[in-house]
Amino acid sequence: MRRDLETPYGPLSAATFARLFPEPIVRLLDWPWARPLTVILSATRWTIDDVVSDPAAAREVRALWRVWTDARRLAAEIEWRNTVAESLWWREMGCPVPCPLCGAVERCSCTADSA
Ligand SMILES: [Zn+2]
Repeated sequence: MRRDLETPYGPLSAATFARLFPEPIVRLLDWPWARPLTVILSATRWTIDDVVSDPAAAREVRALWRVWTDARRLAAEIEWRNTVAESLWWREMGCPVPCPLCGAVERCSCTADSA
């Protein structure tokens, strides 16, 4: 059974996806930040034993972990805002894109500021 791919613009069939992206999409399998704690430990040269036993190491690693999580949260917010702005722009151009804020296909009064 072929499933449609969910996108912010609605479901996308496998055939349409193959037509839009004829070249295979390359996935990054070795992205170091997939394991952020490992990256933070190697950048600070602390070991997990240091973090457990040394309060200074724990403080430093915890601070960098918070920076990492805040950066991820901020990136997700920016991505959501950009997706909303793009969808609203498509709607202004008259494209039949559902409103990302209220879901209406017809005209609505949503703006990028109300996101
Ligand atoms: Zn709306």
